Amino acid sequence: MREHPYISDADTVRFEDLLRQASTVGIVTHTRPDGDAVGSCLALKHFIRERIDAGKECRILLDTEAPEAVRFLFSPADGDQTLVHRPDPAAAESFVAACDLLICLDFNHFSRAGGLEAVLQASKARKILVDHHPGPDLSRFDLAFSETEVSSTCELLFRILSRCPSGREEGLPKACLDPLLTGITTDTNNFANSVFGATLETVSTLLDAGADRETILEHLYNEYPERRIRLLGHLLDRELVLTGRGVAYMILDAGTADSYGILEGETEGFVNIPLAIDRVKMSLFLRQDGDQYRVSIRSKKGWSAQRLAARFFEGGGHEQASGGKVRLGGDLREKADVAAWIERCTEIFFHDENR
Ligand code: 5GP
Ligand code: MN
Repeated sequence: MREHPYISDADTVRFEDLLRQASTVGIVTHTRPDGDAVGSCLALKHFIRERIDAGKECRILLDTEAPEAVRFLFSPADGDQTLVHRPDPAAAESFVAACDLLICLDFNHFSRAGGLEAVLQASKARKILVDHHPGPDLSRFDLAFSETEVSSTCELLFRILSRCPSGREEGLPKACLDPLLTGITTDTNNFANSVFGATLETVSTLLDAGADRETILEHLYNEYPERRIRLLGHLLDRELVLTGRGVAYMILDAGTADSYGILEGETEGFVNIPLAIDRVKMSLFLRQDGDQYRVSIRSKKGWSAQRLAARFFEGGGHEQASGGKVRLGGDLREKADVAAWIERCTEIFFHDENR
């Protein structure tokens, strides 16, 4: 296997020691969790149950529900043991307060934890970070595995668990395989982006160990509700705008989403599609969420989605895949105002980047 300088033996030994010493463990991820967030949480939970201590109190804490496309990863028991903040803040918050170890997966700053942010800030528990976003808030963690040159948190977690004393000896439990492969698959957009040599080596190991890629792909990409595909057709036909600077954007307001019966998470991936157009450098997808629009941004190499998100949309993320928001109010009231704002800020951005 390749050597990975960013994962030292000292750190994996410490990681396993912290797991063993803890009596109550909370596994936390970012709000609106995606496949990488959910997959890494489940894989770590199974590892703790099967390789560390089956009797240890260990729960996954989500701010908002897992998206439909990855619910197949949850057994009924996994579902029962997961606490979701948005329907039940009290249960999730009192569990966090009782934890003596919190493991934060796939986010770089407590502010990305949504409603769980305040209890994370207040917690005196030991904290471990496993994440692949740039610029993590390392001061908050007793132990951090932070590496951007990986496809996903699931890939990084695979490497950590495989190098832990107990993972090294026994390999990963079978229950970890599909969650890890799911996270790698969704974060690479089914192996289109952010794939490194080590990513394929990881996947090769997962497949040889028995990960079920066919079933994963079926759940992720062949079980969409019809309304999603029809809405996509509508957006591409009627709403897609291309600017002279090579920016593509689509805006979905609440009324249109409702008229198609579209639920949370069902527009996942729409932002990628306009990038297939030759002259498009950057694609933005905006979806209304109450009094704001949530923004997804994807860029081709050489253009920074991350800088655009940070400068104009109160957000951030990865170099080529970022997100943020536009708050409604003041001059920004209607969809047309939001479109004008997108035109203006991308014009400024590309003018500055091209200088
Ligand atoms: P998506 O477009 O899939 O919602 O998000 C793409 C990436 O952008 C995520 O992996 C995450 O890293 C980042 N991201 C999304 N929304 C936000 C946000 O509001 N703030 C920050 N800092 N990053 C975000
Ligand atoms: Mn991720």
